[in-house]
Amino acid sequence: MNKPVNRTPADGAARILDTLRMRERIAAQVDALFTMQSAPFRQWQGEALHAAVAHAADASPFYRSHLASSAPAFLRSGQVKDFTALPFTTRQHLHDAYPFGMLAVSQDALVRFGESSGTSSGTSIAAFFTAEDWFTNNCTVAHMLQQVLTPHDVVAVAVPYELAGVGQDLDRALELIGCTVVALGASPQFCPPERMVRILRDAGVTALICSGTRALHLSEVAQQLGIDPRRDLKVSKLLCAGEGSSPAKQVILRETWGAETFAMFGMTETNTLGMFCSANQLHLIENRSYFELIDPASGAPCAPGVAGELVVTTLSSRALPLIRYRTGDLVHIEQAPCTCGSPFHTMRHMGRVADHIVVQGRSMSMLALEQDVLSELTSAPYHFGVKVVDEKLHIGLTENNYGEEVRARVAARFVAQHGLEVNFLLMDKDKVDKAVRNAVKPTMQSIYLN
Ligand SMILES: [Zn+2]
Repeated sequence: MNKPVNRTPADGAARILDTLRMRERIAAQVDALFTMQSAPFRQWQGEALHAAVAHAADASPFYRSHLASSAPAFLRSGQVKDFTALPFTTRQHLHDAYPFGMLAVSQDALVRFGESSGTSSGTSIAAFFTAEDWFTNNCTVAHMLQQVLTPHDVVAVAVPYELAGVGQDLDRALELIGCTVVALGASPQFCPPERMVRILRDAGVTALICSGTRALHLSEVAQQLGIDPRRDLKVSKLLCAGEGSSPAKQVILRETWGAETFAMFGMTETNTLGMFCSANQLHLIENRSYFELIDPASGAPCAPGVAGELVVTTLSSRALPLIRYRTGDLVHIEQAPCTCGSPFHTMRHMGRVADHIVVQGRSMSMLALEQDVLSELTSAPYHFGVKVVDEKLHIGLTENNYGEEVRARVAARFVAQHGLEVNFLLMDKDKVDKAVRNAVKPTMQSIYLN
């Protein structure tokens, strides 16, 4: 039997009160940053960047050697040119350092450990947080969410809760703003889509957080159950996470659900990076991270207004500081301020750098391809597949969209937009349904033809 812990009930109460006081202090700090004017905010960010590099170079075993030759110059000068001379951090570095090679606090100080298996590489990386790191995340996300949600909202969260931090972080943020949380999760064994739809109806859910592909699939399942999302459900806000959605997909989602769509994005190791505002623009979460854009091929910084790969330096992650971390996401950062008044820049997410296919020397992003196909489809299910065989692009469509007229329109669009002839393949509707149904993170990619 374990030895009883030697402490009095009063110690336990004091510890809990300490945690609550820490939360109060962090909530005030996060609030102050959200309401700052642009100039003082940029000054704060410069100081936070300096402190973040100093902490990583001093306390993280990985960064002690990774930044040994470059950090001193930046820490002396604070100049941008010395910052951009710091080497990048890649997912491979995080994988090689698994589990605690990046840890920059004592292991005792952690309150959370998670890991991600990655979308394309298949390599595991660890993510961990101190109590302050974690609550800063929760509070920041709550600030963004409450621009759209109110305490009257009943919010269903259908993203993974297991190991990944995103579901847990959203869940706590929703509690902070007083919403009713319905933690659906993303396990098809535990909560298949039929059960999700029934709960959306029975619990009176008003906002749904999931990937766009899952939202499309749930609307199809609802129709099969005789439930019309517009008529029989109260969902008026779709908060799309886990994959980029093309404008065409957002139009379909708005129409099938009779709901407004909002975008957010992030990753396990960085937590939330971008989130919507009251003006429905996607903001970079700049109180938690410093952002740069680089040319994905050369690594050189992009000129203002030019799209590039998003590079993140964390500003408030004591446990897992990341310096110049390459996200693999293609992003365009707007230069003009948002009408919502936030000091944070707005951005457009243009998909993953790796999510491109090359056909006859032309490179197309999957998101652009999704836009071209979905713009022309006329009925649910709206899923499609993509395959390149012998330098020819093949588009897979399900029977409902395989009619001559739709195929002719898709073909004409690809000739006009890309100068490409396309071939078509008939996809089995049941196989597509099964692929989406069994995916923990359903994205359009789960159904690409392989
Ligand atoms: Zn805004």
